[in-house]
Amino acid sequence: MIQQQQLRLLPHQAASEQAIIEYLKGNGIENINAVRVLKRSIDARRRQVLVNLTVSIYINELPQDDGYETIIYGDVSQSRSVVVVGAGPAGLFASLRLIEAGLRPILLERGKDVHARRRDIALISREHRIDPESNYGFGEGGAGAFSDGKLYTRSKKRGNVNRILNILCQHGASTSILADAHPHIGTDKLPRVIENIRNRIIQSGGEVHFETKMTGLLIHNNSVVGVTTACGKTFRGPVILATGHSARDVYYYMHEAGIALESKGIAMGVRLEHPQQLIDTIQYHNPNGRGKYLPAAEYSFVTQVAGRGVYSFCMCPGGFVVPAATGPEQLVVNGMSPSNRGSRWANSGMVVEIRPEDFPDVDKYGVLAGIKYQEELERLCYINGNCRQTAPAQRMADFVAGRNSSTLVSSSYTPGLVASPLHFWMPEHITTRLREGFRYFGKISHGFLTNEATMIGVETRTSSPVRIPRDAELMSHITMRGLYPCGEGAGYAGGIVSAAIDGERCAEAIANQIDDLKE
Ligand SMILES: Cc1cc2nc3c(=O)[nH]c(=O)nc-3n(C[C@H](O)[C@H](O)[C@H](O)COP(=O)(O)OP(=O)(O)OC[C@H]3O[C@@H](n4cnc5c(N)ncnc54)[C@H](O)[C@@H]3O)c2cc1C
Repeated sequence: MIQQQQLRLLPHQAASEQAIIEYLKGNGIENINAVRVLKRSIDARRRQVLVNLTVSIYINELPQDDGYETIIYGDVSQSRSVVVVGAGPAGLFASLRLIEAGLRPILLERGKDVHARRRDIALISREHRIDPESNYGFGEGGAGAFSDGKLYTRSKKRGNVNRILNILCQHGASTSILADAHPHIGTDKLPRVIENIRNRIIQSGGEVHFETKMTGLLIHNNSVVGVTTACGKTFRGPVILATGHSARDVYYYMHEAGIALESKGIAMGVRLEHPQQLIDTIQYHNPNGRGKYLPAAEYSFVTQVAGRGVYSFCMCPGGFVVPAATGPEQLVVNGMSPSNRGSRWANSGMVVEIRPEDFPDVDKYGVLAGIKYQEELERLCYINGNCRQTAPAQRMADFVAGRNSSTLVSSSYTPGLVASPLHFWMPEHITTRLREGFRYFGKISHGFLTNEATMIGVETRTSSPVRIPRDAELMSHITMRGLYPCGEGAGYAGGIVSAAIDGERCAEAIANQIDDLKE
């Protein structure tokens, strides 16, 4: 017999499936062979933190499956080819969905495979050198590979989200992602999942090419029929363009080729890093922190200041701040965490909404003004970081008071920090709003506004400042048939799961139109 129950347990009672079984036995349920957690969330609104669970209890029987749905991928080696540019979440999930639909993905990635890429990333901290083709943004797995692997999304379509999570489980992610209210995989576990997806594509008859940068589109009678690459090879077929928001060369190329682009709002600011112990103390209302059974605490803040949103973004409990630039003379930071979220620090982007009308030099740069604004701020940050990947930083309370920080606290950012007056050199419409936002967050969350927290410059890549417009139904570019702008770089996603969902949608659109698309 399988019984479903909802439970509200103390953290130690919910610490493991065995602990839950012990609790149930203590409450008179006999002959339990297994327990499967279907939903898990933490209720930290009151002093006594509780864990809400929905569980399946297996009485006198055992679970008959692995806990996730499996998709059968057929052999597409003889099928029509579709070129997928970019092996981030959008490109990888587009490729898998193409296989399901009986089409053959040819996946092109400018960077290296996920393991070779790790070495280039390590060099950034050690030698302050950014390889423009292999870094935190470029390479197999895209920007999602060395990330937190947070899998929550604002997408309302639960079915689509569950599909993506199930596919991740089928490729090696823990089934806990199906149960957790805030699922995440962790930077240590993501590469294996990505590698398994790559192997699946190849085993099904698709192709994966690394160090193969798309340099142009093959256009015939106003239709895209393939791509050219830096290594001289051309690849033919309809094109899913999933190149992410850091591939600025792709936007520049498209603009020059006369392919329509649109301006789009973004958010920019800093990474803010607190001691995790302090965040645990605040969020769990306990001076001793989280104790043995609770995970590293999260937070989420949002407010409006002078007509623009100010909010926390991509919060990484127990994580690291990382150098996420993709080219020379750039300093960009982001955050990630390992699966155990065990570091001593908590970080998040603290960003201010910036609308297209806020971009400077719109007259000069037109639709590319947002990219130019990002570039300018990243360059300014690089200069203030002593022209290395050492990041300019300021203590949080000093920033709010408009004071220089003479010393800094310890940080997870391995290339190192340099004390710098962010309040002085960052654009005023960002700093004035951040200051007000921090004051407000400190008011609603006592202890959050503190000089124990460090602001690290700059967080500029929260989303794409450009949209590649597409037909709402066909999903192809509004004027170029055969071109399917996809994922975060096209302006249709923000985050791993929504990029994956968009990748699937583009693949489905191609499958529906394939007979009308030129060979
Ligand atoms: C450090 C970090 C942590 C993050 N943490 C999270 C998180 O926890 N949760 C979350 O939801 N999101 C997170 N994000 C954001 C998330 O990674 C992105 O939203 C997501 O990866 C976007 O997917 P995408 O496939 O659209 O683009 P991308 O992941 O950017 O992938 C684009 C790919 O295209 C390739 N490419 C670019 N140009 C070319 C070309 N000309 N030819 C061939 N290939 C090309 C790139 O090399 C790249 O691999 C994080 C990002 C970073 C940098």
